Formats: sequence, structure tokens, C-alpha cells
Amino acid sequence: MRVLEARYPIQDWARTMTPFEVLISTVLSQSTTVANERRGFEALRARVGQVTADRLAAVSEGDIARAIWHAGLARQKAPRIRAIAIAVRDRWAGRLHTILAFPTDRAREELMSLPGVGPKTADVVLAMSGGHPTFPVDTHIARIAGRWRLTRRKDYESIRAALEQWTPPEKRKAWHLAIISHGRTLCKARNPRCSDCPVRRDCDWYLRKRAREDRAVTHERGSSTKVKNARSLSAR
Ligand code: SF4
Repeated sequence: MRVLEARYPIQDWARTMTPFEVLISTVLSQSTTVANERRGFEALRARVGQVTADRLAAVSEGDIARAIWHAGLARQKAPRIRAIAIAVRDRWAGRLHTILAFPTDRAREELMSLPGVGPKTADVVLAMSGGHPTFPVDTHIARIAGRWRLTRRKDYESIRAALEQWTPPEKRKAWHLAIISHGRTLCKARNPRCSDCPVRRDCDWYLRKRAREDRAVTHERGSSTKVKNARSLSAR
């Protein structure tokens, strides 16, 4: 991780956002690209002026869906966004800061009690806005944790627990961002660019792949030697 941290300097996309904006942005980011999530978020901001619980609760689901269509799944995301806005307005007077001031477990629990907020969304808000030592797991992180054999399990909580076990609390946010950058740049789902990867010598997936390839070459050489021997015997 020291190598990856140096390779991918921290890009804190949430630095200028309020916790509520980070929450809405994370909902928008589901099943879409970063570029389309940004387009959806900016259009939503243009529609309501400011992405706050009060303003989003005051507009219709249809208006939200029309604003966020670039982010995809607008008809599913719009009612969730509005329901979250109403809950934050009514339960927390529009202030997510109040939740983020709780200890991590309680804050996570409160965030997950908002409509449609799951563990990943809660962890992103906790880590990116609240300075809490959680390790949010997205699709890149889940894939890379599997390739590095940090855990063989596939469920969110097991992967998160494995990453938190291996990561000092003060490094979780930085390493979360570095692994995502690595997943987008080199360690892609299909055809990872292992020959360009600075951590390949420490990567279980790469080492197993190399071992398989070496075995295949040895097997091929063995087979061609047998064929040659058979030919020379039959020629005698
Ligand atoms: S060596 Fe390949 S699989 Fe391993 S971390 Fe690098 S890019 Fe990913």
C-alpha cells in the first residue's frame, strides 16, 4: 500500500461537499460512471439551487428524476433521494452533522436507518465526510481484495472487516481512495494490466497466474519432447 499510496496521490472528491451532498452523490453513483454521476449531481444542483434535505424534500420525485437522468436508474433513485431528504429533514432537522458526531457504530446505525441507505453508502459518508475510520468497499475494492486474497468471502461485511483488520485506522480513507484509483487504472475487472503494475510481485492473483502459465509451458515442452521421441523411434 505504500507503493500504491505514492502512485495515486489522494483525490478527495468530497472535500468541498457537505455530508448531505456526499450522501446524495453516493446514491447517484450506484451503477454508473463517475462522469455520469457528476453530471446528474450538477443537474440536480442546478434544479434545486442547493442540494439540501429541505430543498430536495420540497420538489417532486418527477423533478428529481428529470434532473438526475444522466446518472441512470433515475426512476429508482429519485424516490430514494426524496425519501432520504424527508427523513433527514424530519428526524435530524436537515443536519447530517448531528449523526456524524456520534461514535462510529452509532453513526453507522443511524445512517443505515435512513430509507434506502445500505452499508456501503453509510461507510462512504462516515469515511469521506465524518473522519470515521471505516473502509467503504466498492466494486473495485471488492475485486482487488479477492485478487490479493485478503478474504475468500464475497459479502460486503466480510470484505470490509478484512480490509479494516489489515489497515491502520488513520490510513483507511487514503487506502480506500488509492485502491479505487488502482482498480480504475490498472487492476481492471477484465484484462488487468499486470505487466505495468508496481505491486505485482506481492499480488497473489498475479503469482498464481504466472505459476499456471509456467506449468502450461512445461507441459507443452514435455508433450513436444514426447512427440519428437515417438517420431524418431518410428523413423528407425
Ligand atoms: S498484478 Fe495485476 S491483478 Fe495484481 S494488483 Fe496488479 S494489476 Fe491487479
